[in-house]
Amino acid sequence: MPPVTRFAPSPTGYLHIGGLRTALFNYLYARKHNGKFLMRIEDTDLLRNSKDAAKAIVESFKWVGLEYDGEIIYQSQRFDIYKQYAQSLIQNGKAYYCYMSKEELEALRESQRASGQTPKYDNRYRDFTGEPPSGIQPVIRIKAPLEGEISFVDGVKGKISVQAKELDDFIIMRSDGSPTYNFVVTIDDALMGVTDVIRGDDHTSNTPKQIIIYNALGFDIPRFYHIPMILNPEGKKLSKRDGAMGVMDYKLMGYLPEAILNFLVRLGWSHEDKEIFSLQEMIELFDCNALNSSPSRYNQEKFLWLNQHYIQQYPNDKLEVLLQDFGITPLKDKHKRDILFAALKDRSKTLVEFASQQKEILSRPQSYDEKMRAKLDTNTIIWLQNLLQQSRFYEIEDVKAMEEFLHNFAESHDIKIGKLMPALRLALLGKGGGIGVCEAIIIIGADETKQRIECFIDAR
Ligand code: GLU
Repeated sequence: MPPVTRFAPSPTGYLHIGGLRTALFNYLYARKHNGKFLMRIEDTDLLRNSKDAAKAIVESFKWVGLEYDGEIIYQSQRFDIYKQYAQSLIQNGKAYYCYMSKEELEALRESQRASGQTPKYDNRYRDFTGEPPSGIQPVIRIKAPLEGEISFVDGVKGKISVQAKELDDFIIMRSDGSPTYNFVVTIDDALMGVTDVIRGDDHTSNTPKQIIIYNALGFDIPRFYHIPMILNPEGKKLSKRDGAMGVMDYKLMGYLPEAILNFLVRLGWSHEDKEIFSLQEMIELFDCNALNSSPSRYNQEKFLWLNQHYIQQYPNDKLEVLLQDFGITPLKDKHKRDILFAALKDRSKTLVEFASQQKEILSRPQSYDEKMRAKLDTNTIIWLQNLLQQSRFYEIEDVKAMEEFLHNFAESHDIKIGKLMPALRLALLGKGGGIGVCEAIIIIGADETKQRIECFIDAR
């Protein structure tokens, strides 16, 4: 039977990249085996959830190109279902009303703590048949096993067991009639036919409780894979400073979805020593039995390296569209654009860097690097004036031909090319570094080149 996986975010904030990694693993596993990948928004906590956060999650999925199957399930629309299941457990004697007041529960805990015990509900209403106390809205508790152990084989961590005595008859419905977290997760996973649950290992301790609920409801228990957290390079919890941000923030920072997915898939999973994976390759090669049981580390340099790789791979027509979000108007002359893009692809780790360099090249320098200017040959201005007299200079549209022309010009005027080029670079771009001088000349065009050189001469 093909697997059914799901991603079940709580919409309390933006979609974090750690969440996206969980989603990706679930997605890959389902796609690889021609199964289904479902999406469930866990919005039962009406106070902490926001509609915007749920929208942002959907938006992030669209942007990175992960498609889920069917409609999104919203838990907030399923309260009736949870109530029905709670009632059926009561009727079958697998759950019961507990009338203990908050004060009584607190007093119990206090006395347990005082005698060195771990606070735990004492099952006092488990077999209660008497008259319920008046004025108390009861909670519903599940009958957890009293002895033995609850165990499961985690696909990442191996066998995990919890002694029954460590758990108590935990609450599945609160006194206000709202269902608890573990209860709804279990019911929904079962009703959605989820066969494989891949999630963060912060949920490992929930799983035994969920297994108790599966058993009580008579549902099949899925396979579980609890994946270790992503840590920062120092091995600490990932924080905003390390780059733990919302997925859509990466879009604003000029990352490509391909790079994000490729970066995330390698956090906790590997295939030989392969680093570059297209989505198709990920689907083919992913194996959730090969997930790493130790935490992975966020490596910003590697992320940027991957991003540059994908920028380099991107067809120029597509890149041009993406760059519009960064304030870049497409160039009309495709020949010039291709020369510019080839140069910038090698020099940009993000689209933000790409766009800012493009803007810089296409606008006339407002000032000139003083240090560079001080080093120029005293004859520079004469050379440049002379160069502006060369009609051939304005006719060339090819980088190689421009290189050849400038070399010949330097040679025939007894100028060292190593002196001419920095002078031209300063005149055209205002500073050292950046793209090649000949490329710059072709990209900005003959007229603009002439004007920039004239401005430089006038500004001496
Ligand atoms: N809603 C939970 C979370 O956002 C995930 C629950 C699960 O995957 O079982 O952490």
